[in-house]
Amino acid sequence: MKNRTVFLLLAALFIAGNIFSQTSLYIPRNIQRAYEKGTRSFDGKPGKNYWTNSADYTIKAELVPSENKVKGHAWITYYNNSPDSLSQYVIRLYGDVFRKGNSRDFRISPDDLTDGVSIDSLTINGIGINFQSKEYRVMRTGTNLIISNFPKKIGKRDFSKIEIQWSIQIPKNTRIRMGAYSDTAFYVAYWYPQVAVYDDIDGWDRVDYNGMVEFYNDINNYDVEITVPKEVLVWATGQLQNSKELLRGDIYNKYQAAQESDEVVRIVTEEDYKSGSVTLGNENNVWKFKADKVPDFSFATAKGYLWDGASAEVDYSSGRRVFTDAVYSPEVKGWDEVAFFAKLSVEYLSHEWPGIPFPYPKITTFNGEKSGGGGMETPMMCNNGKSPSRAGQIGVTLHEIAHTYFPFYMGTNERKYAWMDEGWATFFTPELVKRLEDQGGYRSDDSQMLSFMLGNENLLPLVTPSYAAKTQGYSIMAYQQPAAAYNILRDFLGDELFRKALQEYMNLWNGKHPIPYDFFFTFDRIAGEDLSWFWKPWFFESGWADLAITSAKKTTDGYEVQVNNVGNYPVPIDLKITFDDNTEETLHKTASVWKKGEKEISISLDTEKKIKKLELDRLLGPDSNFSNNVFEIK
Ligand SMILES: [Zn+2]
Repeated sequence: MKNRTVFLLLAALFIAGNIFSQTSLYIPRNIQRAYEKGTRSFDGKPGKNYWTNSADYTIKAELVPSENKVKGHAWITYYNNSPDSLSQYVIRLYGDVFRKGNSRDFRISPDDLTDGVSIDSLTINGIGINFQSKEYRVMRTGTNLIISNFPKKIGKRDFSKIEIQWSIQIPKNTRIRMGAYSDTAFYVAYWYPQVAVYDDIDGWDRVDYNGMVEFYNDINNYDVEITVPKEVLVWATGQLQNSKELLRGDIYNKYQAAQESDEVVRIVTEEDYKSGSVTLGNENNVWKFKADKVPDFSFATAKGYLWDGASAEVDYSSGRRVFTDAVYSPEVKGWDEVAFFAKLSVEYLSHEWPGIPFPYPKITTFNGEKSGGGGMETPMMCNNGKSPSRAGQIGVTLHEIAHTYFPFYMGTNERKYAWMDEGWATFFTPELVKRLEDQGGYRSDDSQMLSFMLGNENLLPLVTPSYAAKTQGYSIMAYQQPAAAYNILRDFLGDELFRKALQEYMNLWNGKHPIPYDFFFTFDRIAGEDLSWFWKPWFFESGWADLAITSAKKTTDGYEVQVNNVGNYPVPIDLKITFDDNTEETLHKTASVWKKGEKEISISLDTEKKIKKLELDRLLGPDSNFSNNVFEIK
C-alpha cells in the first residue's frame, strides 16, 4: 500500500513535470492549473475544456442633463458556462470610483465626490436582495458589489436573472475617460452595473476600478434605450434602431447616405441647426440601440454638435462596410477631417495591420475635450480630445479605433496585462500617421522616452499584473515597451511570418480571454521555434537595451567589428559606416543575432575602402546609453 502511494505520487509528479517541461517560461501556479484542467494548451490554442461566460443586457436609461444624472433599469441574463456552480456574484459598480473613502489612482475634483452608485432595487432570480441579510452576505467593497453564499446558486451551464435599478452622478469637473463636457455634451461610460468576469484562471475578477487599469469584460449582447430631452442627439455602442422616428427627414437621408458613402457626408451642419429642430418627436426622445457580441456599452450625447459620417469597405469578398462617424463641437477646428481619418483607420486595420476585417458595424469618434485631453476607447465609440497637430489627431483617432481589436475583439484582460492591448494599439499607429502626415508630432518621442526609462526601478517586468504598477512606470510598461518588443519581433520574424502568427492568435482567441502564454505559445508554434530567448528578457525580466562597439580591427578582407550587448534586452543592430571618402553605408542585423544569449558578436565588413567611423543607430528599439555607440578609426 505504501509502495503504491509512492508510485502514484511519483507518477503524478512525472506527469506534472512533463507537461510543464514543454516550456522554459516561468508559469505562476494559478495559471499552471489552467493547463492541468485543459482550458489552455501549450500550442497556444484554447484547450479542449476552454469556456467563457457571457450576459445579455436589456437596459432602459434616462439621461437628465440638468442634474448630470443617469437613471437606469437593467435586466441581465448571466450565462454560466463554467464547470463550477456559483454561489457568489460579483457586480461592478464603476461609478463607486467617485465614492467618498474609495481609493483611486487618479486625482479627482473634490466637488465630484459622491456616496457612490445609488441602488434602488436589486433582485436575483426573483429574490429581492437584502443588503443586511444574515442568510447571505452583501459587501460593497472598492468598486464591487459582492454577494456571497447566495442561497440560489448559478448551476453549471445554467443562467441567472438579475434585475437592478440604479442611478449615477456624471462627474462635472473630473473627466476620467468620461464625463460632462458642456451642459448637454456627455460621454457616458462605466455607468451600468456589470457582472464581473468569472474565468478559468482567477475565478471572479475582483480588481477594483481605481481610474487606471480598465477593461476586462466578457462578450455580451446589449439592447439599450436611452431617453434624452428633445434636440439632444445620442451616439452609442450598437446600431441605432429607430433613426427614422428620431431624425428630421433631410438629416435622416444624409445619415442613411453616409452609411454607404466613400466621401464624408456632413450629416448635421451648423446650417441644419439654424433651420430648426434636428430631431422629431416629443419633449423627450427614446434612442434605441442594439449591439451583439461586444464587451461593453457606452454612449455620448450633445446638442448643437456637428456630425460627419462616411463608410469603409472592410471585406472585399462580401463588400461589407463599416460606418465611421465623427461628432464635434463647432468651436473645434480640424475635426472636420476626423470622420475621414476614422475611415482610413478602419481600412488600414482591416486590410493591412492586423489585416482582419473590422469586427463591428460602426465606430463613432466623439469629441469630448475641446483642447488636449488624449483619447479613450469603448466598443464602437471613442472619446477624443483636440490634438495640437494634424499628425496627433490622426494618431489618436487610429490608436483608439485600433482598440476595437485589442482589448475588445480579443477579450484580453487590461487590468492584468495592459501591454496586451495598449502595446498593440501603439504598434499599429505610426505607419499610417507617417503616410498621411510626414511631419512627426505623434508620439515621436516614444523611443527616446523608452530608452531613458528602461532599467529604472519603477519599471516592473511586463508580465507583472498591471494593477500592481502604480508609478509612472505604468505607461512605459503598457505602451512603449511592448510596442518596441512587437516591432523587434516583427523585424526578426519578417512581415509574413509575424502577420501569420498574429492573425492565428487573433483568429483562435477572439471573443475569449487570452493571457500572455496564449500569445507566446501561438507565436512559438507558427514561428516553428522556441522564442523564449526573446520572451524572457522582454516580458519576464527588468532591464534595458544597450549596444556598444568595443573594437574594429583591420582584416585582409576589410574589418572585424565587435558589438557588445551591454544591456539584457536583445535589440537589432543598425550600423552606420562612414568611409574615408565620406560615403556612407548601413547594415541591419535583427535581434536574432542574440538568440543564444551571446554578450558579444563580431561582424565582418568586407570592403576595400578605409572606414573612418562606425556608429550604432537606433532606428528600431531603444538604446539606453548612446555614449558607447560611436567608434572612430584612426
Ligand atoms: Zn490606448
